[in-house]
Amino acid sequence: MAPGKVVTPGAGLDKAPGAPHPALMPHDHSHDHPHSLLPSDPALRVKALESILTAKGLVDPAALGAIIETYQHKVGPQVGARVVARAWADAGFAAALLADADAALAAMGVSGRQGEHVVAVANTPQVHNMVVCTLCSCYPWPLLGIPPGWYKSDAYRARAVREPRAVLADFGVTLPEDQTVRVWDSTAEVRYLVVPMRPEGSAGLDEAALAALVTRDSMIGTGLPRRPGSAP
Ligand code: FE
Repeated sequence: MAPGKVVTPGAGLDKAPGAPHPALMPHDHSHDHPHSLLPSDPALRVKALESILTAKGLVDPAALGAIIETYQHKVGPQVGARVVARAWADAGFAAALLADADAALAAMGVSGRQGEHVVAVANTPQVHNMVVCTLCSCYPWPLLGIPPGWYKSDAYRARAVREPRAVLADFGVTLPEDQTVRVWDSTAEVRYLVVPMRPEGSAGLDEAALAALVTRDSMIGTGLPRRPGSAP
């Protein structure tokens, strides 16, 4: 064993010379012990691709790092939640957001790829809005971050249009019978932001406290905002 290599106690003791290390071979015990030093298969493949692209000069590792940092820490549903909280707190902003979301978002400093043309739709006691991309997975990234896996699934994309109330039930949402469900189909040109109804009991909360009530799913329309005092 070359100096500097990580050696797992016992590993490799019973292998024939030249045989693959046990960590590379299929085996049927759990993998939460120290000899599973290799990353998962997709992670390994991503790392391999990144190495090749970097070696060929096709990507800049610093740029990749900046993109990952942006979507891990800066862009996410907390941005959309700030927008919704402001709309709840400020009727003038709400009207401006519903009339021209791009301008209202730009005024808040919110913009970016996959968010060039946003349309905000407000829930009312009469209408509940829900967003899907039936074609693929168009989604307002600058407001909500990267779409969740279910948003991209065939099942959600097909059923959201055909049986929205059944889909909502799967998410634990039951709406009054007399509240119409309106489904908006995102496209490459238009992304939708649902402005949920301000929850009861939230009078007097400031924008930061209001934002904490706004969930990602409530801005897609597959959920409702939290009520003040409920667990996050
Ligand atoms: Fe799409």
